[in-house]
Amino acid sequence: MTGDRIIAIDIGGTQLRLALFENNAILAREAVPTDVAGGPSGVMDQIDMLVDRLCPAARRAEIRGIGLSLAGPIDTEAAMVTRIPTLPGWDGFPIGRALAERTGIPVHVENDAIAATLGEWRHGAGQGVQNIVYLTVSTGIGGGAVVDGRLLHGRKGIAGHLGHMRMAQDGPVCPCGTIGCFEALASGSALRDRAVEAAPGSDFLSAIPDIDARHVFEGARAGDRSCIDLLAHEAMYLGQGITSVIHMFSPDRVIMGGGVSNGFDLLDSGIHDIIRRDAMPPFKGVPVVKAGLGGDSGLFGAASLVAEAAPG
Ligand SMILES: [Zn+2]
Repeated sequence: MTGDRIIAIDIGGTQLRLALFENNAILAREAVPTDVAGGPSGVMDQIDMLVDRLCPAARRAEIRGIGLSLAGPIDTEAAMVTRIPTLPGWDGFPIGRALAERTGIPVHVENDAIAATLGEWRHGAGQGVQNIVYLTVSTGIGGGAVVDGRLLHGRKGIAGHLGHMRMAQDGPVCPCGTIGCFEALASGSALRDRAVEAAPGSDFLSAIPDIDARHVFEGARAGDRSCIDLLAHEAMYLGQGITSVIHMFSPDRVIMGGGVSNGFDLLDSGIHDIIRRDAMPPFKGVPVVKAGLGGDSGLFGAASLVAEAAPG
């Protein structure tokens, strides 16, 4: 392949997104709801159709490779799905090989949070440093790390599942089945659950029929006391988890993405208060910043996988 264009694909539990890259910029993009019920073959059909839209078959030689970011855990050494909670029916599917055979284009596969870490490091809020931790805080909490200028993969390529650090002996049950994980306490879902509980005491939340985490941010901006308290609580959990992460990896900065980071300005000071209070002295000054690429960290990371791969 000699082309200089790259197709990045992000397969999520709700959205399938594709982007055509050239020179680190997005030329065109496509997105559809993921055909979860269709399983791997349904999603492969969707990808085929969208790749065709981004690049007709006659111009395939322009494509150097496909970078694929997928909700994990996936075994990236074997480019094979291990088990994806949000995508049933994919266990053992050799996604890298299957997609390469269908499209005739080389495929590079990465777990989504690790791909997003790479994207932020190369093109977002992590540029210019050699040590970062990226955290995506949305329905769950995922993460990745760059240490000493290397993107961490670990055994099977699944390092950085920071959401499953255990922070409490009791408390809410995590989707992983354990109790008291960082994710179970600090994810957008955990914030939503606390908001539902607090709703009867909140003028703002009690008027909302189907409460979501984003409503808490809206309420706080409108001055609702309960919402402000809920965010103080959320910032405390995030600050505690991030303090542990800082102790583990000693990053130059921690980058926060995911839906909850849309309200980062309301969490920023609370998170830093906890870090300054709880971290050991050499770690107290590590900044937490908002992701620079918003929802596109994973797409930029997937494109970087191809851009940085040895020519083959
Ligand atoms: Zn867990």
